[in-house]
Amino acid sequence: MPTYAAPLREFRFLLRDVLGIDRYANLPGFAEAPAELVEQILEEGAKFCEGVLQPLNGVGDRHGCTRHEDGAVTTPPGFKDAYKKLVEGGWPALGCEPAYGGQGLPHIVSLAWNEMVSSANMAFGMYPGLSHGAYEAILHHGDDAQREMYLPKLVTGEWTGTMNLTEPHCGTDLGLLRTKAAPQADGSYRITGQKIFISAGEHDLADNIIHLVLARIEGAPPASRASRSSSCRRCW
Ligand SMILES: Cc1cc2nc3c(=O)[nH]c(=O)nc-3n(C[C@H](O)[C@H](O)[C@H](O)COP(=O)(O)OP(=O)(O)OC[C@H]3O[C@@H](n4cnc5c(N)ncnc54)[C@H](O)[C@@H]3O)c2cc1C
Repeated sequence: MPTYAAPLREFRFLLRDVLGIDRYANLPGFAEAPAELVEQILEEGAKFCEGVLQPLNGVGDRHGCTRHEDGAVTTPPGFKDAYKKLVEGGWPALGCEPAYGGQGLPHIVSLAWNEMVSSANMAFGMYPGLSHGAYEAILHHGDDAQREMYLPKLVTGEWTGTMNLTEPHCGTDLGLLRTKAAPQADGSYRITGQKIFISAGEHDLADNIIHLVLARIEGAPPASRASRSSSCRRCW
């Protein structure tokens, strides 16, 4: 039976000997994260990935998700319990902003954590991974009201997120996207179009799923650079 042993020795070598993270106490997050603390966090993360996530990898492959007639989706046996443990352990908050409930740890810590999650169980890792993508997009491109509304629950993991980019006729070249966002009088957008291949688009792990939909705002310039920067801003 396959097993997973997190590369803690390699992490230690990289963090202490190659990067020397104790030298960066003057940078945000590093003062609160001396090398000993980072190693303790990663040791706990390793236990979770080795003991909880990796044993579910084969289960996920064999069982898959179950799609019900009403559109609901049940994740493979054990995924829901593992996700609950992930949330209780505060793992989604690791590298997130304290202003929204995050732990504010340096990105290098969440990078190592994500490496373990992806190696132990990539399919499971998609759920928190996509949620973190939604968190980053809203943090950097949302307005204050959107940040207040979405970020705290994405940070705890109570809500998850997705990215809705791909369409039946365009994946790599998103400049061809046809999904439209029409501004409405109440400040919302009416979205029309079709998206496909949306990972974690439906599941039973969280109370709410935040779908970030890439769409072209009516009247926006046709070029893909302009469409990505302007239409991403408010269409979720
Ligand atoms: C497991 C999985 C999860 C996914 N999850 C999501 C998701 O959560 N949200 C979402 O929006 N999408 C998701 N996708 C879709 C994914 O983003 C697209 O499949 C991807 O962008 C490629 O698009 P495509 O399949 O249309 O292939 P195409 O864009 O048609 O590409 C087909 C082939 O042509 C090559 N190619 C394309 N353009 C060029 C070029 N200009 N020059 C040279 N070669 C080129 C590509 O490398 C590829 O080999 C997911 C896909 C997979 C497999």
